[in-house]
Amino acid sequence: MKKKTRTILAVDDNRDNLLLLEAQLDKMGLTSILKDNPYEAIETAISEQPDLILLDVMMPDLNGFEACQKLKADNRTSSIPIIFISARTDTVDKITGLELGAIDYVTKPFNAGELRARIGVVLRIIELQEKNLALANYDELTGLINRRHFFELFKREILQAKMKSQMMALMLLDVDHFKSINDTYGHLAGDVILKQTGKILRENLYPLDVAARYGGEEFTVLMPDTSLHKAKKAAERLRGIIDRWQWEAADNPLSVTISIGLVAQDPNHIIDCRDMVGKADAALYAAKHKGRNCVVCWNEIDTETEEIVESQAQDYHELQAKISSLTRELRTQAMGTVSALEKAMSLAIRDPYLEHHAKHVQIYATAIAQKMNLSAELTGRIGTAALLHDLGKMGMPGYLFSKTAPLTEEELHIIKQHPSASTQILAPLGIFYHELQIIRHHHERFDGTGYPDGLKGREIEIGARVVTVADVFDAITSDHLHRKGQSYDTALKDIREGSGTQFDPEVVEAFMKACKKHKSEWPLSKPKSVENRSRETVTIGT
Ligand code: GH3
Ligand code: MG
Ligand code: MG
Repeated sequence: MKKKTRTILAVDDNRDNLLLLEAQLDKMGLTSILKDNPYEAIETAISEQPDLILLDVMMPDLNGFEACQKLKADNRTSSIPIIFISARTDTVDKITGLELGAIDYVTKPFNAGELRARIGVVLRIIELQEKNLALANYDELTGLINRRHFFELFKREILQAKMKSQMMALMLLDVDHFKSINDTYGHLAGDVILKQTGKILRENLYPLDVAARYGGEEFTVLMPDTSLHKAKKAAERLRGIIDRWQWEAADNPLSVTISIGLVAQDPNHIIDCRDMVGKADAALYAAKHKGRNCVVCWNEIDTETEEIVESQAQDYHELQAKISSLTRELRTQAMGTVSALEKAMSLAIRDPYLEHHAKHVQIYATAIAQKMNLSAELTGRIGTAALLHDLGKMGMPGYLFSKTAPLTEEELHIIKQHPSASTQILAPLGIFYHELQIIRHHHERFDGTGYPDGLKGREIEIGARVVTVADVFDAITSDHLHRKGQSYDTALKDIREGSGTQFDPEVVEAFMKACKKHKSEWPLSKPKSVENRSRETVTIGT
Protein backbone atom coordinates (compact mmCIF):
# COMPACT_ATOMS: atom_id res chain seq x y z
CA MET A 1 0.00 0.00 0.00
CA LYS A 2 1.25 3.52 -0.80
CA LYS A 3 2.34 5.37 2.33
CA LYS A 4 0.18 8.41 2.87
CA THR A 5 1.83 11.82 3.24
CA ARG A 6 1.18 13.10 6.73
CA THR A 7 0.17 16.69 7.37
CA ILE A 8 1.41 18.51 10.47
CA LEU A 9 -0.11 21.73 11.77
CA ALA A 10 2.50 23.92 13.51
CA VAL A 11 1.21 26.73 15.73
CA ASP A 12 3.50 29.45 17.13
CA ASP A 13 3.04 33.24 17.41
CA ASN A 14 6.65 33.67 16.30
CA ARG A 15 7.12 33.35 12.50
CA ASP A 16 10.84 32.48 12.86
CA ASN A 17 9.99 29.52 15.11
CA LEU A 18 7.43 28.37 12.57
CA LEU A 19 10.04 28.46 9.79
CA LEU A 20 12.44 26.39 11.93
CA LEU A 21 9.72 23.80 12.47
CA GLU A 22 8.82 23.80 8.79
CA ALA A 23 12.44 23.02 7.87
CA GLN A 24 12.46 19.97 10.15
CA LEU A 25 9.09 18.72 8.89
CA ASP A 26 10.32 19.16 5.32
CA LYS A 27 13.34 17.02 6.12
CA MET A 28 11.00 14.27 7.27
CA GLY A 29 8.99 14.47 4.04
CA LEU A 30 5.94 15.79 5.89
CA THR A 31 3.52 18.44 4.68
CA SER A 32 3.26 21.41 7.02
CA ILE A 33 0.58 24.00 7.65
CA LEU A 34 1.87 27.02 9.60
CA LYS A 35 -0.36 29.21 11.82
CA ASP A 36 0.69 32.11 14.05
CA ASN A 37 -2.80 32.66 15.45
CA PRO A 38 -4.26 30.00 17.80
CA TYR A 39 -7.90 30.75 16.88
CA GLU A 40 -7.15 30.32 13.19
CA ALA A 41 -5.18 27.19 14.06
CA ILE A 42 -8.25 25.63 15.72
CA GLU A 43 -10.36 26.38 12.62
CA THR A 44 -7.67 24.83 10.42
CA ALA A 45 -7.50 21.73 12.63
CA ILE A 46 -11.26 21.28 12.14
CA SER A 47 -11.20 21.81 8.38
CA GLU A 48 -7.92 20.12 7.44
CA GLN A 49 -7.83 17.29 10.00
CA PRO A 50 -3.98 17.27 10.29
CA ASP A 51 -2.30 14.09 11.57
CA LEU A 52 -0.43 15.93 14.33
CA ILE A 53 -0.36 19.43 15.91
CA LEU A 54 2.82 21.08 17.19
CA LEU A 55 1.61 23.69 19.67
CA ASP A 56 3.47 26.58 21.29
CA VAL A 57 2.43 27.41 24.87
CA MET A 58 3.13 31.10 25.33
CA MET A 59 0.95 33.06 22.89
CA PRO A 60 -1.02 36.28 23.35
CA ASP A 61 -4.88 36.10 23.32
CA LEU A 62 -5.10 32.32 23.78
CA ASN A 63 -2.22 30.33 25.25
CA GLY A 64 -1.32 26.81 24.08
CA PHE A 65 -2.86 25.09 27.12
CA GLU A 66 -6.20 26.82 26.48
CA ALA A 67 -6.01 25.98 22.77
CA CYS A 68 -5.30 22.35 23.68
CA GLN A 69 -8.36 22.27 25.95
CA LYS A 70 -10.55 23.60 23.14
CA LEU A 71 -9.17 21.05 20.65
CA LYS A 72 -9.67 18.17 23.07
CA ALA A 73 -13.23 19.28 23.90
CA ASP A 74 -14.36 19.25 20.25
CA ASN A 75 -15.00 15.73 18.92
CA ARG A 76 -13.92 16.84 15.45
CA THR A 77 -10.38 17.45 16.72
CA SER A 78 -10.16 15.52 19.99
CA SER A 79 -8.29 12.57 18.54
CA ILE A 80 -5.57 14.60 16.77
CA PRO A 81 -2.35 14.15 18.78
CA ILE A 82 -0.66 17.32 20.10
CA ILE A 83 3.01 17.90 20.95
CA PHE A 84 3.72 21.04 22.98
CA ILE A 85 6.83 22.91 21.90
CA SER A 86 7.52 25.45 24.59
CA ALA A 87 10.20 27.64 26.13
CA ARG A 88 8.64 26.90 29.53
CA THR A 89 10.90 24.24 30.96
CA ASP A 90 9.29 23.81 34.42
CA THR A 91 8.29 20.27 35.28
CA VAL A 92 4.91 21.64 36.44
CA ASP A 93 4.26 23.00 32.93
CA LYS A 94 5.26 19.71 31.32
CA ILE A 95 2.89 17.84 33.63
CA THR A 96 0.08 20.34 32.93
CA GLY A 97 0.56 19.92 29.17
CA LEU A 98 0.56 16.14 29.31
CA GLU A 99 -2.42 16.08 31.67
CA LEU A 100 -4.38 18.22 29.23
CA GLY A 101 -4.04 15.38 26.77
CA ALA A 102 -0.86 16.18 24.81
CA ILE A 103 1.15 13.18 23.69
CA ASP A 104 4.56 14.81 24.27
CA TYR A 105 6.23 18.00 25.49
CA VAL A 106 9.44 19.32 23.86
CA THR A 107 11.32 22.32 25.26
CA LYS A 108 12.71 25.20 23.24
CA PRO A 109 15.31 25.70 21.98
CA PHE A 110 14.92 22.16 20.67
CA ASN A 111 17.52 19.82 19.34
CA ALA A 112 16.50 19.22 15.72
CA GLY A 113 17.36 15.51 15.75
CA GLU A 114 15.48 14.89 18.99
CA LEU A 115 12.40 16.75 17.70
CA ARG A 116 12.35 14.65 14.53
CA ALA A 117 12.77 11.46 16.55
CA ARG A 118 9.87 12.40 18.85
CA ILE A 119 7.64 13.27 15.89
CA GLY A 120 8.66 9.92 14.36
CA VAL A 121 7.47 8.09 17.50
CA VAL A 122 4.09 9.79 17.35
CA LEU A 123 3.70 8.97 13.64
CA ARG A 124 4.46 5.32 14.37
CA ILE A 125 1.77 5.30 17.07
CA ILE A 126 -0.70 6.84 14.58
CA GLU A 127 0.15 4.15 12.04
CA LEU A 128 -0.43 1.39 14.60
CA GLN A 129 -3.72 2.96 15.60
CA GLU A 130 -4.82 3.04 11.96
CA LYS A 131 -3.89 -0.61 11.49
CA ASN A 132 -5.86 -1.58 14.59
CA LEU A 133 -8.81 0.43 13.39
CA ALA A 134 -8.70 -1.32 10.02
CA LEU A 135 -8.60 -4.70 11.77
CA ALA A 136 -11.53 -3.73 13.95
CA ASN A 137 -13.64 -2.25 11.14
CA TYR A 138 -12.97 -4.38 8.09
CA ASP A 139 -13.79 -7.93 7.17
CA GLU A 140 -10.58 -9.71 6.28
CA LEU A 141 -11.99 -12.01 3.58
CA THR A 142 -13.95 -9.53 1.48
CA GLY A 143 -12.25 -6.24 2.40
CA LEU A 144 -15.69 -4.74 3.03
CA ILE A 145 -16.51 -3.10 6.35
CA ASN A 146 -17.75 -5.50 8.99
CA ARG A 147 -21.11 -5.59 10.72
CA ARG A 148 -19.97 -3.65 13.79
CA HIS A 149 -18.60 -0.74 11.79
CA PHE A 150 -21.57 -0.90 9.45
CA PHE A 151 -23.91 -0.18 12.34
CA GLU A 152 -21.72 2.77 13.43
CA LEU A 153 -21.99 4.30 9.97
CA PHE A 154 -25.66 3.37 9.68
CA LYS A 155 -26.53 5.27 12.88
CA ARG A 156 -24.70 8.32 11.58
CA GLU A 157 -26.45 8.09 8.20
CA ILE A 158 -29.87 7.91 9.85
CA LEU A 159 -29.13 11.15 11.72
CA GLN A 160 -28.01 12.76 8.47
CA ALA A 161 -31.11 11.54 6.61
CA LYS A 162 -33.35 13.03 9.28
CA MET A 163 -31.41 16.32 9.34
CA LYS A 164 -31.47 16.66 5.57
CA SER A 165 -34.95 15.16 5.14
CA GLN A 166 -33.70 12.53 2.72
CA MET A 167 -35.00 9.06 1.86
CA MET A 168 -32.78 6.16 2.73
CA ALA A 169 -32.64 2.60 1.40
CA LEU A 170 -31.11 -0.59 2.71
CA MET A 171 -30.48 -3.91 0.95
CA LEU A 172 -29.83 -7.22 2.66
CA LEU A 173 -28.27 -9.71 0.26
CA ASP A 174 -27.84 -13.42 0.83
CA VAL A 175 -26.10 -15.90 -1.43
CA ASP A 176 -28.54 -18.62 -2.46
CA HIS A 177 -27.85 -22.22 -1.51
CA PHE A 178 -24.38 -21.29 -0.38
CA LYS A 179 -24.21 -24.29 1.86
CA SER A 180 -24.51 -26.55 -1.20
CA ILE A 181 -21.62 -24.69 -2.81
CA ASN A 182 -19.50 -25.35 0.28
CA ASP A 183 -20.67 -28.94 0.46
CA THR A 184 -19.99 -29.60 -3.21
CA TYR A 185 -16.78 -27.67 -3.80
CA GLY A 186 -15.34 -27.16 -0.32
CA HIS A 187 -15.04 -24.21 2.05
CA LEU A 188 -12.07 -22.64 0.30
CA ALA A 189 -13.97 -22.47 -2.99
CA GLY A 190 -16.86 -20.96 -1.00
CA ASP A 191 -14.48 -18.33 0.37
CA VAL A 192 -13.38 -17.38 -3.14
CA ILE A 193 -17.01 -16.86 -4.10
CA LEU A 194 -17.65 -14.63 -1.08
CA LYS A 195 -14.53 -12.64 -1.90
CA GLN A 196 -15.64 -12.12 -5.48
CA THR A 197 -19.16 -11.20 -4.36
CA GLY A 198 -17.63 -8.51 -2.12
CA LYS A 199 -15.57 -7.25 -5.05
CA ILE A 200 -18.61 -7.08 -7.33
CA LEU A 201 -20.49 -5.07 -4.70
CA ARG A 202 -17.56 -2.70 -4.21
CA GLU A 203 -17.14 -2.11 -7.91
CA ASN A 204 -20.80 -1.62 -8.72
CA LEU A 205 -22.04 0.79 -6.10
CA TYR A 206 -22.49 4.55 -6.19
CA PRO A 207 -19.79 6.42 -4.28
CA LEU A 208 -22.04 7.32 -1.35
CA ASP A 209 -23.40 3.79 -0.90
CA VAL A 210 -21.82 1.61 1.77
CA ALA A 211 -21.45 -2.14 1.38
CA ALA A 212 -20.66 -4.40 4.31
CA ARG A 213 -20.26 -8.07 5.08
CA TYR A 214 -23.11 -8.61 7.48
CA GLY A 215 -22.01 -12.12 8.42
CA GLY A 216 -21.53 -15.52 6.77
CA GLU A 217 -22.80 -15.22 3.21
CA GLU A 218 -24.90 -12.15 3.92
CA PHE A 219 -24.10 -8.63 2.81
CA THR A 220 -25.74 -5.24 3.32
CA VAL A 221 -25.75 -2.14 1.16
CA LEU A 222 -26.79 1.16 2.67
CA MET A 223 -27.94 3.78 0.19
CA PRO A 224 -28.25 7.31 1.58
CA ASP A 225 -30.48 9.78 -0.27
CA THR A 226 -32.04 7.01 -2.39
CA SER A 227 -35.67 6.54 -3.35
CA LEU A 228 -37.39 3.16 -3.51
CA HIS A 229 -37.43 3.33 -7.29
CA LYS A 230 -33.68 3.96 -7.53
CA ALA A 231 -32.90 1.38 -4.88
CA LYS A 232 -34.94 -1.27 -6.69
CA LYS A 233 -33.07 -0.59 -9.90
CA ALA A 234 -29.72 -0.81 -8.10
CA ALA A 235 -30.71 -4.07 -6.38
CA GLU A 236 -31.97 -5.61 -9.60
CA ARG A 237 -28.75 -4.56 -11.32
CA LEU A 238 -26.56 -6.20 -8.65
CA ARG A 239 -28.68 -9.36 -8.73
CA GLY A 240 -28.28 -9.52 -12.52
CA ILE A 241 -24.50 -8.96 -12.44
CA ILE A 242 -24.04 -11.79 -9.95
CA ASP A 243 -26.39 -14.06 -11.89
CA ARG A 244 -24.53 -13.49 -15.17
CA TRP A 245 -21.03 -13.67 -13.72
CA GLN A 246 -18.88 -16.52 -15.06
CA TRP A 247 -18.44 -18.27 -11.72
CA GLU A 248 -15.99 -21.09 -11.29
CA ALA A 249 -15.16 -23.43 -8.44
CA ALA A 250 -12.32 -25.91 -8.69
CA ASP A 251 -12.32 -25.35 -12.48
CA ASN A 252 -16.02 -26.23 -12.78
CA PRO A 253 -18.40 -23.58 -14.05
CA LEU A 254 -21.23 -23.06 -11.60
CA SER A 255 -24.13 -20.75 -11.08
CA VAL A 256 -24.23 -18.37 -8.13
CA THR A 257 -27.27 -16.25 -7.38
CA ILE A 258 -28.32 -13.91 -4.60
CA SER A 259 -31.65 -12.99 -3.07
CA ILE A 260 -32.15 -9.39 -1.98
CA GLY A 261 -34.48 -7.92 0.63
CA LEU A 262 -34.94 -4.19 0.19
CA VAL A 263 -36.43 -1.40 2.26
CA ALA A 264 -36.60 2.33 1.44
CA GLN A 265 -38.07 4.81 3.88
CA ASP A 266 -38.64 8.52 4.13
CA PRO A 267 -36.90 10.10 7.13
CA ASN A 268 -40.11 10.53 9.15
CA HIS A 269 -40.76 6.82 9.07
CA ILE A 270 -37.25 5.68 9.94
CA ILE A 271 -37.22 4.37 13.51
CA ASP A 272 -33.69 3.04 13.92
CA CYS A 273 -31.09 0.69 12.44
CA ARG A 274 -32.58 -2.44 13.95
CA ASP A 275 -36.01 -1.66 12.62
CA MET A 276 -34.72 -1.08 9.09
CA VAL A 277 -32.58 -4.23 9.14
CA GLY A 278 -35.62 -6.15 10.43
CA LYS A 279 -37.69 -4.93 7.49
CA ALA A 280 -34.98 -5.77 4.95
CA ASP A 281 -34.65 -9.18 6.58
CA ALA A 282 -38.39 -9.85 6.28
CA ALA A 283 -38.18 -8.87 2.60
CA LEU A 284 -35.16 -11.17 2.15
CA TYR A 285 -37.08 -14.02 3.72
CA ALA A 286 -39.92 -13.38 1.27
CA ALA A 287 -37.41 -13.38 -1.62
CA LYS A 288 -36.11 -16.79 -0.52
CA HIS A 289 -39.65 -18.06 -0.19
CA LYS A 290 -40.48 -16.78 -3.65
CA GLY A 291 -37.81 -19.02 -5.12
CA ARG A 292 -34.54 -17.06 -4.68
CA ASN A 293 -32.51 -15.08 -7.25
CA CYS A 294 -34.92 -12.16 -6.94
CA VAL A 295 -35.45 -8.81 -5.22
CA VAL A 296 -38.37 -8.25 -2.85
CA CYS A 297 -39.24 -4.86 -1.32
CA TRP A 298 -40.52 -4.72 2.21
CA ASN A 299 -43.60 -2.64 1.31
CA GLU A 300 -44.63 -5.24 -1.24
CA ILE A 301 -44.25 -8.34 0.89
CA ASP A 302 -47.98 -8.97 1.34
CA THR A 303 -49.09 -8.09 -2.15
CA GLU A 304 -46.03 -9.67 -3.71
CA THR A 305 -47.00 -12.05 -6.52
CA GLU A 306 -45.13 -13.74 -9.28
CA GLU A 307 -44.40 -10.38 -10.84
CA ILE A 308 -41.55 -10.45 -13.31
CA VAL A 309 -39.25 -7.49 -13.57
CA GLU A 310 -39.22 -6.40 -17.16
CA SER A 311 -36.14 -4.27 -17.04
CA GLN A 312 -33.69 -6.25 -19.12
CA ALA A 313 -33.32 -5.83 -22.83
CA GLN A 314 -35.31 -8.00 -25.23
CA ASP A 315 -32.33 -9.94 -26.59
CA TYR A 316 -31.27 -10.87 -23.09
CA HIS A 317 -34.73 -12.33 -22.51
CA GLU A 318 -34.50 -14.33 -25.71
CA LEU A 319 -31.09 -15.69 -24.86
CA GLN A 320 -32.29 -16.55 -21.39
CA ALA A 321 -35.29 -18.40 -22.83
CA LYS A 322 -33.06 -20.41 -25.17
CA ILE A 323 -30.70 -21.36 -22.36
CA SER A 324 -33.57 -22.39 -20.10
CA SER A 325 -35.15 -24.51 -22.79
CA LEU A 326 -31.79 -26.21 -23.42
CA THR A 327 -31.34 -26.78 -19.71
CA ARG A 328 -34.89 -28.15 -19.47
CA GLU A 329 -34.14 -30.57 -22.29
CA LEU A 330 -30.93 -31.67 -20.61
CA ARG A 331 -32.73 -32.08 -17.32
CA THR A 332 -35.50 -34.13 -18.90
CA GLN A 333 -32.97 -36.42 -20.53
CA ALA A 334 -31.01 -36.77 -17.31
CA MET A 335 -34.24 -37.44 -15.40
CA GLY A 336 -35.08 -40.21 -17.86
CA THR A 337 -31.72 -41.85 -17.26
CA VAL A 338 -32.06 -41.44 -13.53
CA SER A 339 -35.58 -42.95 -13.51
CA ALA A 340 -34.37 -45.92 -15.55
CA LEU A 341 -31.54 -46.37 -13.08
CA GLU A 342 -33.93 -46.19 -10.18
CA LYS A 343 -36.22 -48.73 -11.74
CA ALA A 344 -33.25 -51.01 -12.31
CA MET A 345 -32.25 -50.50 -8.70
CA SER A 346 -35.71 -51.34 -7.33
CA LEU A 347 -35.81 -54.45 -9.49
CA ALA A 348 -32.35 -55.48 -8.35
CA ILE A 349 -33.32 -54.99 -4.73
CA ARG A 350 -36.69 -56.49 -5.56
CA ASP A 351 -38.47 -53.94 -3.41
CA PRO A 352 -41.80 -52.89 -4.97
CA TYR A 353 -41.89 -49.99 -2.54
CA LEU A 354 -38.84 -48.35 -4.11
CA GLU A 355 -40.33 -48.74 -7.57
CA HIS A 356 -43.08 -46.20 -6.96
CA HIS A 357 -41.77 -44.36 -3.92
CA ALA A 358 -39.98 -41.51 -5.74
CA LYS A 359 -42.99 -40.77 -7.94
CA HIS A 360 -45.33 -40.79 -4.93
CA VAL A 361 -43.09 -38.47 -2.93
CA GLN A 362 -43.01 -36.14 -5.92
CA ILE A 363 -46.82 -35.99 -6.05
CA TYR A 364 -47.22 -35.49 -2.29
CA ALA A 365 -44.43 -32.90 -2.06
CA THR A 366 -45.77 -30.93 -5.01
CA ALA A 367 -49.26 -30.83 -3.47
CA ILE A 368 -47.83 -29.61 -0.15
CA ALA A 369 -45.74 -26.94 -1.88
CA GLN A 370 -48.83 -25.72 -3.70
CA LYS A 371 -50.79 -25.49 -0.45
CA MET A 372 -47.91 -23.43 0.96
CA ASN A 373 -48.17 -21.05 -2.00
CA LEU A 374 -44.50 -21.54 -2.87
CA SER A 375 -43.47 -20.14 -6.24
CA ALA A 376 -43.97 -22.31 -9.30
CA GLU A 377 -40.20 -22.46 -9.77
CA LEU A 378 -39.54 -23.67 -6.24
CA THR A 379 -42.43 -26.13 -6.42
CA GLY A 380 -40.89 -27.58 -9.59
CA ARG A 381 -37.54 -27.95 -7.88
CA ILE A 382 -39.14 -29.65 -4.91
CA GLY A 383 -40.84 -32.12 -7.27
CA THR A 384 -37.58 -32.88 -9.07
CA ALA A 385 -35.69 -33.24 -5.79
CA ALA A 386 -38.42 -35.61 -4.55
CA LEU A 387 -37.93 -37.80 -7.61
CA LEU A 388 -34.18 -37.93 -7.07
CA HIS A 389 -33.96 -37.97 -3.28
CA ASP A 390 -33.21 -41.68 -2.76
CA LEU A 391 -30.84 -42.10 -5.68
CA GLY A 392 -27.96 -42.62 -3.26
CA LYS A 393 -29.50 -45.94 -2.19
CA MET A 394 -28.48 -47.25 -5.59
CA GLY A 395 -24.91 -47.83 -4.56
CA MET A 396 -25.85 -49.60 -1.33
CA PRO A 397 -25.98 -53.36 -0.79
CA GLY A 398 -29.47 -54.61 -1.72
CA TYR A 399 -29.81 -56.87 1.30
CA LEU A 400 -30.07 -53.78 3.55
CA PHE A 401 -33.53 -53.10 2.14
CA SER A 402 -34.85 -56.63 2.31
CA LYS A 403 -33.45 -57.52 5.69
CA THR A 404 -36.18 -58.51 8.12
CA ALA A 405 -34.05 -58.47 11.29
CA PRO A 406 -33.35 -55.02 12.82
CA LEU A 407 -30.43 -53.24 11.18
CA THR A 408 -27.11 -53.23 13.01
CA GLU A 409 -25.52 -49.93 13.94
CA GLU A 410 -23.11 -50.23 11.05
CA GLU A 411 -25.92 -50.97 8.58
CA LEU A 412 -27.86 -47.97 9.84
CA HIS A 413 -24.74 -45.88 9.39
CA ILE A 414 -24.52 -46.99 5.75
CA ILE A 415 -28.20 -46.24 5.12
CA LYS A 416 -27.78 -42.78 6.61
CA GLN A 417 -25.20 -41.99 3.94
CA HIS A 418 -27.85 -42.08 1.23
CA PRO A 419 -28.79 -38.36 1.20
CA SER A 420 -25.17 -37.29 0.72
CA ALA A 421 -24.59 -40.19 -1.68
CA SER A 422 -27.52 -38.90 -3.78
CA THR A 423 -25.98 -35.43 -3.99
CA GLN A 424 -22.57 -36.86 -4.83
CA ILE A 425 -24.05 -38.74 -7.75
CA LEU A 426 -25.92 -35.69 -9.04
CA ALA A 427 -23.44 -32.86 -8.36
CA PRO A 428 -21.12 -33.56 -11.33
CA LEU A 429 -24.08 -33.33 -13.74
CA GLY A 430 -24.21 -29.64 -12.85
CA ILE A 431 -27.90 -29.31 -13.77
CA PHE A 432 -29.56 -30.26 -10.51
CA TYR A 433 -27.65 -27.66 -8.60
CA HIS A 434 -30.73 -26.15 -6.91
CA GLU A 435 -32.15 -29.53 -5.95
CA LEU A 436 -28.97 -30.74 -4.25
CA GLN A 437 -29.62 -29.07 -0.94
CA ILE A 438 -33.20 -30.37 -0.74
CA ILE A 439 -31.93 -33.87 -1.45
CA ARG A 440 -29.08 -33.65 1.02
CA HIS A 441 -31.39 -32.51 3.79
CA HIS A 442 -34.48 -34.66 3.35
CA HIS A 443 -33.61 -36.54 6.54
CA GLU A 444 -32.94 -33.48 8.68
CA ARG A 445 -35.43 -33.06 11.49
CA PHE A 446 -37.04 -29.79 12.57
CA ASP A 447 -35.71 -30.25 16.13
CA GLY A 448 -32.11 -30.58 14.89
CA THR A 449 -31.66 -34.29 15.55
CA GLY A 450 -31.71 -35.45 11.93
CA TYR A 451 -28.90 -36.24 9.53
CA PRO A 452 -26.47 -35.65 7.81
CA ASP A 453 -25.89 -32.06 9.06
CA GLY A 454 -28.09 -31.84 12.17
CA LEU A 455 -29.70 -28.64 10.87
CA LYS A 456 -32.57 -27.18 12.85
CA GLY A 457 -35.83 -25.36 12.03
CA ARG A 458 -35.51 -22.86 9.21
CA GLU A 459 -31.84 -23.71 8.72
CA ILE A 460 -33.25 -26.59 6.75
CA GLU A 461 -34.15 -25.52 3.25
CA ILE A 462 -37.94 -25.25 2.85
CA GLY A 463 -37.92 -27.81 0.02
CA ALA A 464 -36.26 -30.38 2.28
CA ARG A 465 -38.83 -29.76 5.03
CA VAL A 466 -41.58 -30.45 2.49
CA VAL A 467 -39.97 -33.58 1.00
CA THR A 468 -39.46 -35.04 4.51
CA VAL A 469 -43.20 -35.07 5.22
CA ALA A 470 -44.04 -36.46 1.78
CA ASP A 471 -41.32 -39.11 2.14
CA VAL A 472 -42.50 -40.28 5.55
CA PHE A 473 -46.16 -40.31 4.47
CA ASP A 474 -45.34 -42.65 1.61
CA ALA A 475 -43.07 -44.77 3.79
CA ILE A 476 -45.84 -45.29 6.37
CA THR A 477 -48.62 -46.02 3.92
CA SER A 478 -46.70 -48.37 1.59
CA ASP A 479 -46.05 -52.07 1.86
CA HIS A 480 -42.38 -52.93 2.37
CA LEU A 481 -40.63 -56.23 2.01
CA HIS A 482 -40.42 -56.58 5.76
CA ARG A 483 -43.56 -54.83 6.92
CA LYS A 484 -47.02 -53.97 5.69
CA GLY A 485 -48.17 -50.46 5.03
CA GLN A 486 -50.32 -48.79 7.65
CA SER A 487 -53.62 -47.02 7.35
CA TYR A 488 -54.11 -43.49 6.10
CA ASP A 489 -55.39 -42.41 9.53
CA THR A 490 -52.40 -43.90 11.34
CA ALA A 491 -50.11 -42.07 8.93
CA LEU A 492 -51.89 -38.76 9.51
CA LYS A 493 -51.75 -39.28 13.27
CA ASP A 494 -48.01 -40.09 13.16
CA ILE A 495 -47.27 -37.03 11.08
CA ARG A 496 -49.36 -34.79 13.29
CA GLU A 497 -47.49 -36.16 16.32
CA GLY A 498 -44.17 -35.38 14.67
CA SER A 499 -45.12 -31.73 14.08
CA GLY A 500 -42.51 -29.49 15.73
CA THR A 501 -40.09 -32.37 16.41
CA GLN A 502 -39.53 -34.32 13.20
CA PHE A 503 -41.49 -31.95 10.96
CA ASP A 504 -41.98 -28.25 10.37
CA PRO A 505 -45.45 -27.39 11.77
CA GLU A 506 -46.14 -25.10 8.79
CA VAL A 507 -45.47 -27.96 6.40
CA VAL A 508 -47.59 -30.36 8.44
CA GLU A 509 -50.45 -27.86 8.32
CA ALA A 510 -50.16 -27.58 4.53
CA PHE A 511 -49.90 -31.37 4.27
CA MET A 512 -53.17 -31.78 6.21
CA LYS A 513 -54.86 -29.32 3.84
CA ALA A 514 -53.48 -31.23 0.84
CA CYS A 515 -54.79 -34.49 2.35
CA LYS A 516 -58.27 -33.01 2.60
CA LYS A 517 -58.13 -31.94 -1.03
CA HIS A 518 -56.90 -35.33 -2.28
CA LYS A 519 -58.85 -37.49 0.14
CA SER A 520 -60.24 -39.66 -2.61
CA GLU A 521 -56.89 -40.48 -4.28
CA TRP A 522 -54.51 -40.64 -1.30
CA PRO A 523 -52.59 -42.62 -0.21
CA LEU A 524 -51.22 -43.51 -3.60
CA SER A 525 -49.94 -46.85 -2.27
CA LYS A 526 -52.88 -48.99 -1.40
CA PRO A 527 -51.50 -51.27 1.29
CA LYS A 528 -52.60 -54.87 1.06
CA SER A 529 -53.05 -55.02 4.80
CA VAL A 530 -53.24 -52.27 7.37
CA GLU A 531 -51.77 -54.17 10.28
CA ASN A 532 -49.74 -52.06 12.58
CA ARG A 533 -46.12 -53.18 12.80
CA SER A 534 -42.67 -51.89 13.68
CA ARG A 535 -43.28 -48.20 14.32
CA GLU A 536 -39.63 -47.21 14.70
CA THR A 537 -38.65 -47.99 11.15
CA VAL A 538 -41.43 -45.68 10.09
CA THR A 539 -40.05 -42.59 11.83
CA ILE A 540 -36.71 -43.06 10.10
CA GLY A 541 -38.68 -43.07 6.89
CA THR A 542 -35.90 -44.58 4.84
P1 GH3 B 1 -30.34 -19.97 1.32
O1 GH3 B 1 -30.51 -19.97 -0.15
O2 GH3 B 1 -31.60 -20.27 2.04
O3 GH3 B 1 -29.69 -18.73 1.82
O4 GH3 B 1 -29.39 -21.20 1.63
P2 GH3 B 1 -27.89 -21.15 2.11
O5 GH3 B 1 -27.33 -22.52 1.98
O6 GH3 B 1 -27.14 -20.09 1.42
O7 GH3 B 1 -28.05 -20.69 3.59
P3 GH3 B 1 -27.51 -21.25 4.95
O8 GH3 B 1 -27.66 -20.12 5.90
O9 GH3 B 1 -28.15 -22.56 5.26
O10 GH3 B 1 -26.00 -21.57 4.71
C1 GH3 B 1 -25.04 -20.59 4.72
C2 GH3 B 1 -23.72 -21.27 4.70
O11 GH3 B 1 -22.68 -20.32 4.56
C3 GH3 B 1 -23.45 -22.03 5.96
C4 GH3 B 1 -22.02 -21.71 6.30
O12 GH3 B 1 -21.27 -22.86 6.46
C5 GH3 B 1 -21.53 -20.92 5.11
N1 GH3 B 1 -20.58 -19.87 5.46
C6 GH3 B 1 -20.73 -18.90 6.36
N2 GH3 B 1 -19.61 -18.14 6.40
C7 GH3 B 1 -18.73 -18.66 5.52
C8 GH3 B 1 -17.40 -18.33 5.12
O13 GH3 B 1 -16.78 -17.38 5.58
N3 GH3 B 1 -16.83 -19.10 4.16
C9 GH3 B 1 -17.48 -20.16 3.62
N4 GH3 B 1 -16.86 -20.87 2.68
N5 GH3 B 1 -18.72 -20.52 3.99
C10 GH3 B 1 -19.35 -19.77 4.93
MG1 MG C 1 -27.76 -18.16 1.76
MG1 MG D 1 -27.82 -17.14 5.22
